[in-house]
Amino acid sequence: MNLETQFKQTLKKIKLNKKDKILVALSGGKDSTVTAYLLKKFGYKIEGFHINLGMGDYSKNCLNAVKKLCKEQEIKLHIYEIREQMGNSMCYIRAAIQTSHGKGLKNCAICGVIKKWIMNREARKLGFKKIATGHNMDDEVQTFLMNIFKGSPQLSANSGAITKNVQNEKFITRIKPLFYIDEEEIREYSKKNKLPVIYDHCPCALDSYRIQMRQFSKTLTKKQKQNIMKNFDKLSEKIQKLKTTEKINYCEICGEPSRNKICKMCQLMKK
Ligand code: AMP
Ligand code: ZN
Repeated sequence: MNLETQFKQTLKKIKLNKKDKILVALSGGKDSTVTAYLLKKFGYKIEGFHINLGMGDYSKNCLNAVKKLCKEQEIKLHIYEIREQMGNSMCYIRAAIQTSHGKGLKNCAICGVIKKWIMNREARKLGFKKIATGHNMDDEVQTFLMNIFKGSPQLSANSGAITKNVQNEKFITRIKPLFYIDEEEIREYSKKNKLPVIYDHCPCALDSYRIQMRQFSKTLTKKQKQNIMKNFDKLSEKIQKLKTTEKINYCEICGEPSRNKICKMCQLMKK
């Protein structure tokens, strides 16, 4: 099956509606660029959202790539300047968190929590019903395996091509249209279509566990990765059935939806 067919099949599986307003989280990398390009190509109503992390040349290059894509594809772009909104660059915020919470917290984990918090809040303010990210099959295989190695496969339960959280008006549904697509095919597709993409990895992505999983997943065939995702789908369905009583609270500090009294973002920001 080619990439475009698989992409459409995933959209069908998650029942994406052409009337939904979708905010595509654009990092400047190949995955989110291909996601926006294809959603637009297939007639979905999208706008772009980029978080400028303020990390020197890397961030400048990412921002330029996103601007170029949006200009070429006539996509309205919203830019969130982390320095203006939060007072500092992501590097500084992350280092401060690691100083107060201990070095055990990984760079990507901190950055991930902050980005998700920003995306949910901004998408809601802008009136979007869905957020699309560029996570691909390799990312998902790595996350799933990491959770299994940690002994906590249930951590993957709310993930999937569409988030399976309890419905909540403040929580914006996240979709991952590339969930079943191999990373290498996405790279080839972005090159074939000459999309403006930054191929470098984030300079702060130094999480050794993730790097180890990435190297391991590179040794797997596409079929093996697809089989891992089949396991994932079966397992997460079963876990979902057990979790009928899950309740969403609102964070006591920021008011965002959270499974706990205080959301992950505010737990990190607490001194
Ligand atoms: P990563 O965690 O960096 O692999 O990114 C996963 C997905 O999150 C990307 O495919 C994008 O959809 C989104 N994303 C990451 N960084 C940014 C950013 N700076 N601005 C907007 N979206 C982002
Ligand atoms: Zn909070």
